[in-house]
Amino acid sequence: MVNPRCGNPDRVNGTTHMNSDKSPTDHTVANFSFFQGKPRWPSSKSKLKYAFLPENQLTDSVKVAFKRAFDKWSKVIPLTFKKMDSYRSVDIRIRFFVRDHGNGNPFDELMKILVHVFAPPTGFLHLDGEENWVVYDEFLKEGMVDLESVVVHEIGYLLGLDHSSEKEAIMFLTLEDGTRKVELSSDDSEGVQMLYGSNPNYNGSSTVYTPSRE
Ligand SMILES: [Zn+2]
Ligand SMILES: [Zn+2]
Repeated sequence: MVNPRCGNPDRVNGTTHMNSDKSPTDHTVANFSFFQGKPRWPSSKSKLKYAFLPENQLTDSVKVAFKRAFDKWSKVIPLTFKKMDSYRSVDIRIRFFVRDHGNGNPFDELMKILVHVFAPPTGFLHLDGEENWVVYDEFLKEGMVDLESVVVHEIGYLLGLDHSSEKEAIMFLTLEDGTRKVELSSDDSEGVQMLYGSNPNYNGSSTVYTPSRE
């Protein structure tokens, strides 16, 4: 399947996204945008399954960073994400690769290209295994990339959002290295809710929703 994302790697350090070949989409009153044709996961799916490539042997703390990132989005839309152990029959496949990985889009050395991500319903997320990824609680400084910050942004693509011109938005096009930015802005929430509707538990503020213990 031909997809617009795998030629458009994400970048940090102020280099912009390679988006110039794509016509601007559906800009509305807000600053978020969608892919052309507004692809989204079918409404028959209320749960998206994801899995990590078992060969990557990721640590639990890395997996938890992904879970936290998915939770940010499922808090505002009526979609949940479930981690599966097997790579079979999942919606979202997450892999770390180094350099060439057989699709004509090799990863590079440090920085520049960090990820390849695909719009729905493809669900591929490739991460450059050579980056200085750090997970929450680790000491973050210049030259390091906060994994969760990047993953929150990439999940936006996996759901069908493209970049936002709103600086506070998770979907803003750049992330400074050595910084952490993991909270959705109202611009992100409004954008993704236009695709999927609102989570009935979403109260419109950035306060953390605490599920009841029942
Ligand atoms: Zn981006
Ligand atoms: Zn790739």
